[in-house]
Amino acid sequence: MAPQILVVEDNEQNLVLMRDILTYHGYAVLTARNGEEGVRLAREERPDLILMDMQMPVLDGFTAVNILRRDPGLHGLKIIAVTSFAMAGDKEKALQAGCDDYLSKPVDILELRATVKKHLGEGKADGE
Ligand code: MN
Repeated sequence: MAPQILVVEDNEQNLVLMRDILTYHGYAVLTARNGEEGVRLAREERPDLILMDMQMPVLDGFTAVNILRRDPGLHGLKIIAVTSFAMAGDKEKALQAGCDDYLSKPVDILELRATVKKHLGEGKADGE
């Protein structure tokens, strides 16, 4: 089975971009549009990795990561923060909150793929 990724992002354009790229590279992708929905889906579906926007309504990424990191049922879950380039200090904050890595917005397609591959391995093998 393909590794499963949950993309949590309130900006529709970014959400669709990340979903489409990851789907193209053979990952199974779930989406959520705020931190609360993201936490709920993470618990229900137990993805292998989460791409977490840090600025979101309802429940922001920092709070969502905090909740997820306290959940013993989600041990081993990889979380990659997606932070606005303009928000200096957010990368460090994200790592301190328990994220494994981070990506800057605007999301670079090659960097997205490389970072996910680093933590998760390939999606479905080429030609499969
Ligand atoms: Mn956002």
